Amino acid sequence: MEEVPLQKLEDDLLREQGVELWVKREDLLHPHISGNKWRKLKYNLQEARQQGHHSLLTFGGAYSNHIAATAAAGREYGLKTIGIIRGEEHLPLNPTLSFATSCSMELHYISREKYKLKAEPDFLEELQQQFGNVYVLPEGGTNLLAIKGCAEIVQDIPLKYDYICSAMGTGGTLAGIVAGLAGEKQVLGFPALKGGEFLKQEVAELVQAYSGHPYSNWQLISDYHFGGYAKVKPELLTFMEEFRQKYHIPLDPIYTGKMMYGLFDLIREGFFARGSRIVVLHTGGLQGNAGFRERLGLQV
Ligand SMILES: *Cc1c(COP(=O)(O)O)cnc(C)c1O
Repeated sequence: MEEVPLQKLEDDLLREQGVELWVKREDLLHPHISGNKWRKLKYNLQEARQQGHHSLLTFGGAYSNHIAATAAAGREYGLKTIGIIRGEEHLPLNPTLSFATSCSMELHYISREKYKLKAEPDFLEELQQQFGNVYVLPEGGTNLLAIKGCAEIVQDIPLKYDYICSAMGTGGTLAGIVAGLAGEKQVLGFPALKGGEFLKQEVAELVQAYSGHPYSNWQLISDYHFGGYAKVKPELLTFMEEFRQKYHIPLDPIYTGKMMYGLFDLIREGFFARGSRIVVLHTGGLQGNAGFRERLGLQV
């Protein structure tokens, strides 16, 4: 299950700068539970079962990769799933939510105001009352069992390398990588959100809580959000299309596209010393591209 290709990119820029770039294809881990979402769910699914739960409940926006992944995981593992979706229902359902319902996820819509309470104990208690005894996964699936799953990402990289890069939403994946490396290598995180500097604190807390160590071999590269979460610009889409044609690797415009754009920018600027070997995670998220195509007529 965890054997995914590590694909070396060949490019004039990389040769000129004297760096090697390898893509770890976590997007190929599972056909429907892609990339880091599978890593984050793995131990949570085991825990839910061990605790005797029959249902998973989680939160997300209408295009959420985590919602799609949880729905698929529930179907595969025989657990009922409930998705608490931010905002109003729009029919027909977009590709993410119609996939989720095809996996038998039950959708409940709540206002944006109410959604802000998603981590409040009172609100969670209310949901337990409403839905019975459910196993609750936080938004984006980030909790300590998710960190445990993400820490395994670095166990199967049969290469010596200097840097490892990942896109960031909640920061759970990056925290797992940092914890898994236990102070080795340099870790670069690329926030998909504007103002992603707040993730510094989040990641530090998660790493400390999980591992008990304040590792410092990681940093955020927060300049490549392209205006904010789920915002895109033409140069990003052009980059993604050229990347796909050249390397036959599709990217998504929210996470991996922005990260890869940023990474190539850093390489061009000489951020990495000659002789550096960089591993970059393709965290998946391609299910969301259908929604982008539909909403914005984008070629992604
Ligand atoms: C959810 C997601 C991320 C962000 O993961 P976090 O652990 O929340 O930081 C990155 N890439 C893709 C493709 C995702 O779907």
